[in-house]
Formats: sequence, structure tokens, C-alpha cells
Amino acid sequence: MTKLIFATNNQHKVTELRSLTGPTFDIVTLQEAGIDIDIPEPHDTLEANATEKSQTIHRLTKQNCFSEDTGLEVEALNGEPGVKSARYAGDGRDFQQNIDKLLAKLKGNTNRQAQFRTVISLIHDNKEYQFEGICKGKITEDQQGNKGFGYDPVFIPDGADKSFAEMTMEEKNQYSHRQKAVTQLIQFLHSL
Ligand code: IMP
Repeated sequence: MTKLIFATNNQHKVTELRSLTGPTFDIVTLQEAGIDIDIPEPHDTLEANATEKSQTIHRLTKQNCFSEDTGLEVEALNGEPGVKSARYAGDGRDFQQNIDKLLAKLKGNTNRQAQFRTVISLIHDNKEYQFEGICKGKITEDQQGNKGFGYDPVFIPDGADKSFAEMTMEEKNQYSHRQKAVTQLIQFLHSL
């Protein structure tokens, strides 16, 4: 089994990742690895933040590890909240306040086009590799559903008729940005 430390403290991401990678990979959380830090995300691109996170954990553990950074990029807001998605409404990282701010900014705007973009940074045998996954869709007028996390209640992926928050994790995985990035990560690891 391939062991990889996942550089995140977000349990939702860990659950999604494990459901995507299946039993061939041993995904070890920071908590399980005995690491208790708030990983920095100081940069202004998803790519740089993903690198920062994986390098931070690699420095501490010297083991193969990966991180991911995700942003919701809204066309009518010139790509906002983007890299600031987690802290859009402030440092509290409050999902509901972030959604409220987004819907308020888009109120009355007919352009609802948006995409989730995930960047994975893998450090394998001391070398870094990046993988990207994009899921295009639309921002709803009102919240729909209560599953998932983050902006899931206000995002309907193209090809679906309900929001991520109205889907089971398996349904979300069929469309999601994270699934697309993870598929590339797995293909790469299998090709080694
Ligand atoms: P980060 O990658 O941990 O910086 O996460 C950025 C923020 O984007 C999170 O706090 C969530 O609000 C949001 N986010 C990331 N992935 C998803 C997703 O799959 N669905 C909904 N929101 C997400």
C-alpha cells in the first residue's frame, strides 16, 4: 500500500480524498502523523499555497506527502473569492458568512458562471509535482441542501440539476474538481 501524508486539517477533505483513492493508498492525516500545526496559506495563488503546505509537512516528516488548495472562482467577480475562499468574510473561516457575502455580491447579477479549481502538490522522493482539477458550474440564487461543506450549498455543477450540498459524496465525486485532480495524482503514482 502506498503511504502518503495528507497536509490538511480539514476533515471534510480527508473523507472525500479517502473515498476517491480507495484501499490502494494509505492516506495519513496530520493528526494521525502526530503533527499539530496550522499550516500557512500566505500566497496569492492556489499553486503557491499548495507548495507551501506540502513543503512545510515534508520538512517536518521527510516523508512522501501531498496537499491541496482549492478556490471558488466566480466570473462576475473577476475570479473572486479564489485563493481567498476560506477567509472571504474574515479570518473566522465561517462557511455561512462566506456564502452570505458571495450571494450578496452577486445579488441581481445574471452572470452566475463559476468554477471550483483544485491544485494538488505532491512531494514524492523529494521532488514536487502538481495536478489541477476544474469543475465548472453556476452559483445559485439561494442556498440549496445541507450536505458537504464550504460553498457546496450555492454551487450547481454543469450537467447536474442540484447543488453539491444536495448530493451524496459519491454523486459529488462524479463532478468534482477534487476528484479530477486526485484522478491525475493516482494515475501519476501508478505510473511510477
Ligand atoms: P482551502 O483549500 O482549505 O484553502 O479551502 C478553501 C475554501 O474553499 C474552503 O474553506 C471552502 O470554503 C472552499 N472549498 C474548498 N473545497 C470545496 C468544495 O469541494 N466544496 C465547497 N467549498 C469548497
